[in-house]
Amino acid sequence: MPEPHLTELISASDLADAIAKLAQQIDRDYAGQSLVVIGILKGSFIFLADLVRQIQTPLERIEFIRLSSYGSGTVSAGTAKLELGIAEAKIRDRNVLVVEDIVDTGITTQTALDYLEAYRPAALKLCTLLDKPERRQVPVAIDYLGFTVPNVFIVGYGIDYDEKYRQLPAIYQVGEV
Ligand code: 5GP
Ligand code: MG
Repeated sequence: MPEPHLTELISASDLADAIAKLAQQIDRDYAGQSLVVIGILKGSFIFLADLVRQIQTPLERIEFIRLSSYGSGTVSAGTAKLELGIAEAKIRDRNVLVVEDIVDTGITTQTALDYLEAYRPAALKLCTLLDKPERRQVPVAIDYLGFTVPNVFIVGYGIDYDEKYRQLPAIYQVGEV
């Protein structure tokens, strides 16, 4: 496959600034409480790693769940399948913060939230680095948002194209602007 052209959309330093602000917001909202952070694999892993290092609120645990929505291409399959779940006891009556890379159609994120809600957390909130509202098919309530992005295909900072480019320290759009 020829290397696609990548155009930087969000720089590493803008990401760091936004994440510091998100962490401050989270710390204000959960003052005097503790949190369970649940990342949605794989795309959120770098965002989560940077975010939790800025959060002062005590974290009871960091867990991951995994859903699959996209195949190897760039078009959503329309459904999300749970591939790695979590024990109910880790969620029940806890303050749960879900960390997502990007809310696009909303199908994956909403599937994840519905799955976790069924385990009756004390509170369930969503923090996503990116929101692509133009493509939404299912409404998703976002509690903490880094950036709104246009309807372009994104890579970098944990987010892949066919498993590649996750290692890039900034957010790029595939193709020319
Ligand atoms: P949704 O179910 O909201 O359509 O999208 C869920 C997942 O699709 C996201 O968590 C992300 O992993 C992937 N996704 C959505 N938009 C993009 C994009 O622009 N680039 C890449 N690489 N993945 C995306
Ligand atoms: Mg994802």
